[in-house]
Amino acid sequence: MSMHDALRARIDELAAVPHLLVALDFDATVAPIVARPEDAVAHPVSARAVRRLAALPDTAVEYVSGRSLDSLRQAARPPENVLLVGSHGAEVDVPGLPTLRPLTADEETIVDALDAVLKLIASTAPGSWVEQKPYARVLHTRQADPVLGAHALRAALESVGRGLPGVVPRRGKRVVEFSIRSETKGDALRLLRARVHADAVFFAGDDTTDEDAFAVLSAADLGVHCGDGETRAGFTVPDPDAIAEVLDALAAARQRRYAPVGSSVSR
Ligand SMILES: [Mg+2]
Repeated sequence: MSMHDALRARIDELAAVPHLLVALDFDATVAPIVARPEDAVAHPVSARAVRRLAALPDTAVEYVSGRSLDSLRQAARPPENVLLVGSHGAEVDVPGLPTLRPLTADEETIVDALDAVLKLIASTAPGSWVEQKPYARVLHTRQADPVLGAHALRAALESVGRGLPGVVPRRGKRVVEFSIRSETKGDALRLLRARVHADAVFFAGDDTTDEDAFAVLSAADLGVHCGDGETRAGFTVPDPDAIAEVLDALAAARQRRYAPVGSSVSR
């Protein structure tokens, strides 16, 4: 299958900039979607592209995920110099950037209340469960009956909206997260862009929260949306296999930029 010509042309342009930031969502973008988040692993071609890109000069690679930093580190198993942003931008593992802020007593009270409400709602849709994150609780319904799951998501949004004002809801596909911090992937991308002095940014993502990142991209950048649904990204590809093809092309083009003329490029 050949990649869209316009997309390939943009990849080549992007690979030529002096300082490049390659930012990637992980789940359902780099990692094919799985029922249990703990089973997610990077597509082998994407993982190899990440290693090749991260080894190049003036090329920063970043995973920006909704997972907690710990969970992201475990699932993505990134090379050491890959930057990590978790919890949609609220948790950062980037040299020179402020990291996790501890919860205040008020915030702890809110998180405890969230936990109780969501566990009660999860019990109404067998297979659904509540994930604990440093700044948030997440109701997952992917393994529940679709009707019961949808009902649980609606109930969660209503109860939390009514009882716990100030908590930020984030809807994903068969999942809703309630966070006491409002940082977004867009905020994270802005910080990272400045931190690494990027002349252009590549970002790929599949879900609603990735739209915050697509929204801060400019004309020099390249956004690639993975899967169906409305998006602000300039390009859409069908699935993580196609993302792997894009990342492979980006890594190859970026490697050519640094390869001495006439030498072969290692994979
Ligand atoms: Mg995702």
